[in-house]
This record gives sequence, C-alpha cells and structure tokens, in this order.
Amino acid sequence: MEGYPVYERFHSWQGEGLHWGKSAFFIRLHGCPVHCPWCDSAGTWHPDHKPDSIVKMNPDELADEAFMACPEIVVITGGEPAIHNLQNLAYQLKSRNLPVHLETCGAFPVNGEIDWITISPKWASPPIEETLERADEYKIIVEDETSIEKWSEALTLKEEDIPVWLHPEWSKSQDPSVLHAITSWVKENGPPFRAGFQTHKLYFADQSDDRSLPEASLSHLPD
Ligand code: SF4
Repeated sequence: MEGYPVYERFHSWQGEGLHWGKSAFFIRLHGCPVHCPWCDSAGTWHPDHKPDSIVKMNPDELADEAFMACPEIVVITGGEPAIHNLQNLAYQLKSRNLPVHLETCGAFPVNGEIDWITISPKWASPPIEETLERADEYKIIVEDETSIEKWSEALTLKEEDIPVWLHPEWSKSQDPSVLHAITSWVKENGPPFRAGFQTHKLYFADQSDDRSLPEASLSHLPD
C-alpha cells in the first residue's frame, strides 16, 4: 500500500474556520512547492528545517492511529497535502467513519473523498478552478492592508456564499494595521467575510500531544 510522507500527526483541536473548537486529529504531510516567505510549517519543505529522515506511513496505519484518538474530525494538512494522491488515505479514514477535512492552497487537483475543503490561496501558486469548485470555506492570510482587497478581486469573493475567513499572518497577529484592516473590512462588507485567528496557537493546544513537533516558521528566521 502507498506510503505517505508524514511530518507529524497529533491530536488537538481545530483552531480555525467553521469547525473551530472541534476535537481534531491532524496529519501533516511533507512537501510544498509554493514556498511562502512567512510559512509556519517550513519543516515540511524548507532545506534548513526539514528533518534528516522522513517517516512514511501507509494509510491503514495512519487511519488506525487517528481512529484510536477518537477525534470528531481528521484534518489533512501540510506542507501542501494536495500534491499527494489522497485517495487511499481518505478512503481508510472514511471506512472508520472519520470525517475528512483538507487544508490546501487550492493550486492542485484534490483526489479522494473529502468532506470539507479549506482553501487558503497563495499568490505564488494561485488556486485552480477545479479545486475552487470544491471549496467549503476560504482562509485569506492578511499580510498587510492590501491583502484582502487583492484577493477579494482576484477570486470575486464578495459573490461567494461560503465563509471567507480573514486571518492575520501570524507574525503580524499583533500588528494594529493588519488587525484594523480586517476589522474594517468585515464591518464594511459583512458576509461572506469573517474575522479569524489561529486560536489553537494561543492555547498551545498542539503541543499537548508529544507527537507534535515545534513549529518551524520562516517568520522566525533572521533576514
Ligand atoms: S504556507 Fe502553506 S502553501 Fe505556503 S509554503 Fe507553507 S505550506 Fe506551502
């Protein structure tokens, strides 16, 4: 059976989006060709952060581990998880009655039966139509005051009928201009826009499981 390159897997809770607060088992896969300058999971792809060896796990054993945790949902993330064929992993999770969620930049086709798809678009590799059509929510990373307007126009977000979360890029999560830009946009536009935040980071929730690794974030690197 095909093995997936697993960076980490752990039991925590979903700190973002419409499923906020739910008990969640996270499967973080290696690899991402997008290379955002502020990536907070750089350990999955950046040469300075990648571990020396990569664990490969078959979907059956990954799904068993997720099942043992008894989460409400399973979140497949990365890196960019859609660069892998997720069909077998999704199948094994679904066969254990586990709802399968995916976090992707949307630039790649998504394989497999996925219950919930969160698209967080990136300029370096914009989303493709085929994956946009499967989106259940968007997460826009707000780097500065211009981010929201640019993505809103590029993806005609004002016409969307699914939630569009506006998250401060984490290294700017206390930057008044970024927080004000989100607040103003939501007040002026209303739905589908909603203010968001990576609340699990405030709780240090992921670190409560020994299998989770310390965050390897490019924002923490010196220039
Ligand atoms: S933020 Fe996501 S898309 Fe960007 S480099 Fe990191 S893993 Fe890839």
